[in-house]
Amino acid sequence: MLKCRDVPAEASLALDNELSRRRTMALRFHILMCRHCHRYMRQARLLAQAWTNRGEAASEDEVNNVMQACRDNARKTNSEDV
Ligand SMILES: [Zn+2]
Repeated sequence: MLKCRDVPAEASLALDNELSRRRTMALRFHILMCRHCHRYMRQARLLAQAWTNRGEAASEDEVNNVMQACRDNARKTNSEDV
């Protein structure tokens, strides 16, 4: 069973179409069951679309910065819910 802490890395691979079918299904199942990761995945997808539509490819540092910001936001959101 996929854990919330595994979702950012799996989501990143999924958005790059580099995730196996089995791991994609595990990710989708987790996202269906977990509202926090559902929200995270929606934000990551929007960010990926924004990067894609801005005209030039994002550098590895830019992608890592955005993914870290998403993780920080998800962590902050999760701690607010407790
Ligand atoms: Zn989760």
